[in-house]
Amino acid sequence: MTAQLHPVSGIPTPVKVWAPGKINVHLGVGKSGDDGYHELATVFQALNLGETLTLVPGGNGSIVVRGRYADADVPQGDANFARRAVNLLISALEDERDVDVLRDLDIIIDKQVPVAGGMGGGSADAAAALCGAAHLIGGVDDGLLHDCAVEVGADVAFLLRGGTAIGHGRGEKLSPVLTRGSFHWVMATSASQLSTPTVYSRFDDLNPDPEPAVVPAEVLTALAAGDLDTLAGAAVNDLTEAAVSYMPELAEVMEAGRDAGALLPLLSGSGPTIGFLARDAHHALDLAVLLQATRGVKEALRTTGPAPGAHIIDEH
Ligand code: ATP
Repeated sequence: MTAQLHPVSGIPTPVKVWAPGKINVHLGVGKSGDDGYHELATVFQALNLGETLTLVPGGNGSIVVRGRYADADVPQGDANFARRAVNLLISALEDERDVDVLRDLDIIIDKQVPVAGGMGGGSADAAAALCGAAHLIGGVDDGLLHDCAVEVGADVAFLLRGGTAIGHGRGEKLSPVLTRGSFHWVMATSASQLSTPTVYSRFDDLNPDPEPAVVPAEVLTALAAGDLDTLAGAAVNDLTEAAVSYMPELAEVMEAGRDAGALLPLLSGSGPTIGFLARDAHHALDLAVLLQATRGVKEALRTTGPAPGAHIIDEH
């Protein structure tokens, strides 16, 4: 699909793109390398809770944030991951292709993923921006799109693809994972935020000599079989202790979810959102009602995975 042109101005019409948020179904953290990044062995799952971006050609480069988290602290200008992603694509292609249509894009973000919650909201915006920008210029080679994604952030490459995948390295070396059925999650958000670098640095203090990061084989076989109980017994997030050390109330929220029958309370990324795996849609509804009334929980959001990666949903 290529971009449509406005019949009078000849400018490509706006394009609407959706990209998923994510949960790390497993997050193994190893040593930190010379570049300061930790060696990860993670299993990402893309969630149907995601972001919608509208890219409007011929604008003045503005960024407007709407939606559930419109009031959150989302940076303007080049600090915004969506804008940064588009700028990287421009730099990569401007010597060989006409990319002028991307230069003054207005970006409208419908923010549905909590900000700094460990669910990859900013990364989803970058993935959506890359997908939409590629569409506006008539398509871009997957390898180049992947390189731009990784330059913005390790999770962006996964959110372009979606599904369920193992991420090695910083999380950008991806291989798909077979899953069976839908996974029902209740995401319990927090009124507070946790900074990703701070949590990793506490992990280093708590684990001066960590084991190499691995994804346990049981996690993969459980995902392939849709065996929720085995998954619950095998999946962990190595950042949990570090996150709880900053926000002890997270341990109480996890306990409340367990008491309510959640199979697996799991810190999402570096937190503070906690994902709870439910048995089915009914169980997720019960869990959400209970968690919504739990101290320390701001919102209990129901969602499912695996969801598709960034894709065009509409052209005006
Ligand atoms: P991750 O799980 O990928 O570490 P996160 O979900 O915890 O990320 P984000 O919502 O992506 O957190 O935001 C992290 C920081 O990124 C924010 O505090 C903000 O300053 C910056 N940021 C840049 N662009 C965006 C964007 N489009 N939306 C949200 N935050 C953004």
